[in-house]
Amino acid sequence: MKRNVLIIGGGPAGIEAARRIRDYGHTPILIEKEARLGGHLAKWHKLFPDGESTEEVLTALTSDMEGIKWFTDTAIVSINRLKHLYVAIFSNGITVQADAILFATGFSLFPAEKKEEYGYGIYNNVVTNADLEHFFNTGNDPRIKDPKVIGFVHCVGSRDEKAGNRQCSKVCCATAVKQACEMKERYPDASIYCFYMDLRMFGRKYEDLYLNAQRKYGIFFVRGRVSEVSEDIEGRLVVKAEDTLAGKPLRITMDLLVLMAGMSPCIENPEIASMTGIHMGEDGFFMPRDLMLRPVESHSKGIFLAGAVTGPKTIPETLNEARAAAMAIDNYFKQKAE
Ligand SMILES: Cc1cc2nc3c(=O)[nH]c(=O)nc-3n(C[C@H](O)[C@H](O)[C@H](O)COP(=O)(O)OP(=O)(O)OC[C@H]3O[C@@H](n4cnc5c(N)ncnc54)[C@H](O)[C@@H]3O)c2cc1C
Ligand code: SF4
Repeated sequence: MKRNVLIIGGGPAGIEAARRIRDYGHTPILIEKEARLGGHLAKWHKLFPDGESTEEVLTALTSDMEGIKWFTDTAIVSINRLKHLYVAIFSNGITVQADAILFATGFSLFPAEKKEEYGYGIYNNVVTNADLEHFFNTGNDPRIKDPKVIGFVHCVGSRDEKAGNRQCSKVCCATAVKQACEMKERYPDASIYCFYMDLRMFGRKYEDLYLNAQRKYGIFFVRGRVSEVSEDIEGRLVVKAEDTLAGKPLRITMDLLVLMAGMSPCIENPEIASMTGIHMGEDGFFMPRDLMLRPVESHSKGIFLAGAVTGPKTIPETLNEARAAAMAIDNYFKQKAE
């Protein structure tokens, strides 16, 4: 029997799940609160580890949307359970009855201005990883003017109790190394430093990316936290750090500092949790029914989860979870019909 599945969030997880749910013979209804589909993926330029074009990945994902009802600029106003159904009201006034719901609402980028010591929003030439992706896509950022010395600060708002995020964001070591190489290609004369706590280059081909960054691009990797950033009289940045391997303090004058802001839970998660009964972890991400055995099922019957909504993930991991969620939803319907 054909069922309605409401998918909330039109990033890679939501799009891929919608296509798969359609292929199982059900009716996906996908809503996205922003003006276009694609989620954070739509904001990036080239993807690690191979430099694949974001535009190509996004085009492949959205090329076949037949049979999917989708709405942009649309958010959820309310969700209520009515016996075996959910009734959802959207901000565009539409009401739908759904046999199952998939939350694919993803993550928020950590607000880098919260880490005042790095000077984001205070000094002109401090940017975030997301700003740099925007610059790669548009070539337009008045803060980036032929920089000669560039620093990348890892773990900004991640692995940081004081910032309220204890978890590792998983993707920002690889993003920093990828972005450092891309900056070196654009500015071959620049000296580039990566300040890291430890490097988490866990995936296939990631180690090659790291070795290439050192051997081909000559990126300097410094183990140690940046403690302070200030501005000198010429408007250049003075970055203080400790090289914990050499046991020496460092003071480097730079033209650009890039903060690797981490993946944080969405601010709406507590409201969604209280509306639906989905459990939230201490870290603010949604908690699946069982991290090991039921990673795409929530604690509420008929509600499923996929992608970065349950914690930091790469795009391939996100897409695999979306496929797993579509299969779990189809199985849920089959069990209900028995
Ligand atoms: C700087 C940076 C660079 C990255 N680069 C790479 C890379 O090169 N390779 C890689 O594999 N991974 C990369 N990632 C990780 C990648 O961005 C994530 O894996 C991916 O975006 C997760 O997809 P998602 O659909 O789960 O979430 P998202 O991309 O966050 O999409 C969620 C969508 O849901 C929407 N939404 C949220 N709440 C609501 C609501 N209430 N109603 C309606 N819609 C809602 C949002 O607007 C958004 O469009 C990077 C991450 C960062 C931070
Ligand atoms: S992936 Fe790297 S930069 Fe990101 S939080 Fe983990 S250790 Fe820090």
